[in-house]
Amino acid sequence: MRVVNTAAVAALLMALAACNPAAETTDAAATETAAVVASPDVHAFKIGTMDAFALRDGSLAVPNDNKTLAIGESAADTNALLTAAGLPTDTLALSIQPLLVRNGDAVLLFDTGAAGGMGTEGKLMGSLTAAGVQPDQVTDIFISHLHGDHIGGLVTSAGALAFPNATIRLSNEEWAAMKADATLAALVTAITPKVQAFAAGSEIVPGVASVDIDGHTPGHSGYRIGTGADSLTYFGDTMHHQVISVQRPDWTIQFDGDEATAEASRKALLERAASENLHLYGVHFPFPGLGRIRKDGETFVWVPDAPAT
Ligand SMILES: [Zn+2]
Repeated sequence: MRVVNTAAVAALLMALAACNPAAETTDAAATETAAVVASPDVHAFKIGTMDAFALRDGSLAVPNDNKTLAIGESAADTNALLTAAGLPTDTLALSIQPLLVRNGDAVLLFDTGAAGGMGTEGKLMGSLTAAGVQPDQVTDIFISHLHGDHIGGLVTSAGALAFPNATIRLSNEEWAAMKADATLAALVTAITPKVQAFAAGSEIVPGVASVDIDGHTPGHSGYRIGTGADSLTYFGDTMHHQVISVQRPDWTIQFDGDEATAEASRKALLERAASENLHLYGVHFPFPGLGRIRKDGETFVWVPDAPAT
């Protein structure tokens, strides 16, 4: 019944827009919405009925030296793979784009970027503002894992909470690992009052479930946002590079803490993504990081979403 009503309303609005000067109101509203997100650092899209935004934070330039990604492989094999995909072979570019989702009154942020560290641009706060959200409006932050390009934006340069009203959510195992890391002591102290850790693989808040993806760090977690065919899977650092990680998931990556487990997790996710046609969000894949995995013989390829027309 609700669907029928919605369709009827939409048809009425379309009819009005087509033939009535009153359509100015609709046009004005559309223009206002567009102005909020008219930034090359923001990509607006939908997850079912939820409004979502890819927020560019910056990019990491990783040397193509077979010591970081594709460890121990030959330069010839690596370069052949990159060249076949139309990519340069001097450096490997990894984008960083935290994800913002509005679900009713909830304003959800997935990872917080590098805050200008690691040679990145530190664009997240500007991108957030361009998406029409102020930092104190964020209600929940979901951390995939404790690396600097994901937790760097949790606090300001002065050490204060960058999102003062947000509950910070991460897996029990990852929170334990953070607390055990002496280099993160100041950050842990700052965020402790806001942290609510969860059991890996559990439903966390309405519309968001943890996807337990082991290996990269002790408690690395992806997230499933929404339900059914409309859902989006945020896979964190299960994969870093849209060609190397997808087409050669068995190639070792320096950033993986437990390489064998990370490799198995990567392959399992690729198989599931291809067989279930999962809609995916790659925080390090080319902006805006949206796409799907297609099986290609014995391996896989990344198929980015077609750009909106
Ligand atoms: Zn990362």
